[in-house]
Amino acid sequence: MVTATLCARAGKKVLLLERHSVPGGFTHTFTRKGIEWDVGVHYVGQMNQPSLLKKILDDVTEENTLQWDDMGEVYDRAIICGQPYDFRKNKAQLIHDWINLFPEERKAIQTYFKWIAQASGSGPYFFGEKTAPAWFSKTIGRWLRFRFEKFSQQTTLQVLKRLTRNERLISLMAAQCGNYGLLPEKSAFSIHATVVQHYLNGASYPTGGTQAIAKSILKAFYKYGGVLRLNADVDQILLEKNCAVGVVLKDATPYFAKSVVSNAGARNTFLRLLPKASAQQSWLKNVQETLATLRPSIGHFCLYVKLKGTAAELNLPKNNLWIYPKEVTQLSEQDLGEDPITSESLTYISFPSAKDSTWEQRHPRAAPKPVAS
Ligand SMILES: Cc1cc2nc3c(=O)[nH]c(=O)nc-3n(C[C@H](O)[C@H](O)[C@H](O)COP(=O)(O)OP(=O)(O)OC[C@H]3O[C@@H](n4cnc5c(N)ncnc54)[C@H](O)[C@@H]3O)c2cc1C
Repeated sequence: MVTATLCARAGKKVLLLERHSVPGGFTHTFTRKGIEWDVGVHYVGQMNQPSLLKKILDDVTEENTLQWDDMGEVYDRAIICGQPYDFRKNKAQLIHDWINLFPEERKAIQTYFKWIAQASGSGPYFFGEKTAPAWFSKTIGRWLRFRFEKFSQQTTLQVLKRLTRNERLISLMAAQCGNYGLLPEKSAFSIHATVVQHYLNGASYPTGGTQAIAKSILKAFYKYGGVLRLNADVDQILLEKNCAVGVVLKDATPYFAKSVVSNAGARNTFLRLLPKASAQQSWLKNVQETLATLRPSIGHFCLYVKLKGTAAELNLPKNNLWIYPKEVTQLSEQDLGEDPITSESLTYISFPSAKDSTWEQRHPRAAPKPVAS
């Protein structure tokens, strides 16, 4: 939706095809018996400060239609083996808190945040370079990618173990790993760093629930002349001389276009929507072979719960809870793949009703039933 709106805003004629009956992907919200739950996004960083991300969102949303509720001083709470640890906004604050908890690890903690800044700071160069032509990539591009790759070629666990042997501190450093769906032994440190850095100044929740993001972008998309088609399941991307020239839907409707942008994920796009590479298409063959080796990240089991009472009455926190029954380093993929109810797995809990300032007004409580005397 962001790409489509940016293209429409730049004067392109844009058709957005969505296979679901509701637009918005993981900003989706669903309702049962008058109560709503969100399915994906539960907090976003850098929205209450000037940032590139905020600027992009401002550019693709209708003015003042997307507001953010600050989640307050604490945005995440990790509970490791029953011990709570708060992630408080502001990097200096977090460093201070961690040094208080682990005074003998001062150096490790300071170096950790230095590496987080270096790895995440090199991200824009790494990703930006991908838009450059091949000659640039082979020359100056190498230098632009170097810093990020230095950290992405090491797993998060490898980097953390170089810093400290304190298992609890490693668990705390890795406690937000649920955000990227991989255990520290599998994730690239650069991605870990990007996520940690993203939330260092605190987090926000979209006022009116996550659907507000999609609604606001769509308003701008329509304003710039974009056209949306729902229930439009793309089955194939059409190629002509190695160039995408259109798509065909599952119902066999073809659409032709000067450019095709797929947001269905790299594996789906290259392994399912594009034809298998022929011998002449070495570029496509390379990408397809590489992607075929990638395993999907871990799945999750999600329980949507309705509680009786307001967030204030129930004292529900705005912050998220990441609950680990054992040290993060001792969790295995097998633990996460086991029965989520009985196994010693990671549990994540959040309360959208506590985060959204319009919740009470949008969901006024039903009159309490009279209590029998
Ligand atoms: C449980 C969960 C929690 C998350 N929490 C957070 C969070 O707190 N903060 C945060 O910033 N991010 C969070 N994320 C990540 C965030 O939701 C995603 O990064 C974001 O939604 C990606 O947006 P997208 O538009 O690229 O993809 P998506 O939101 O996945 O949208 C892709 C769209 O493409 C459509 N589509 C796919 N294939 C086809 C096809 N063949 N034809 C037509 N349409 C197709 C899909 O139906 C979907 O609507 C979370 C994700 C999950 C799953």
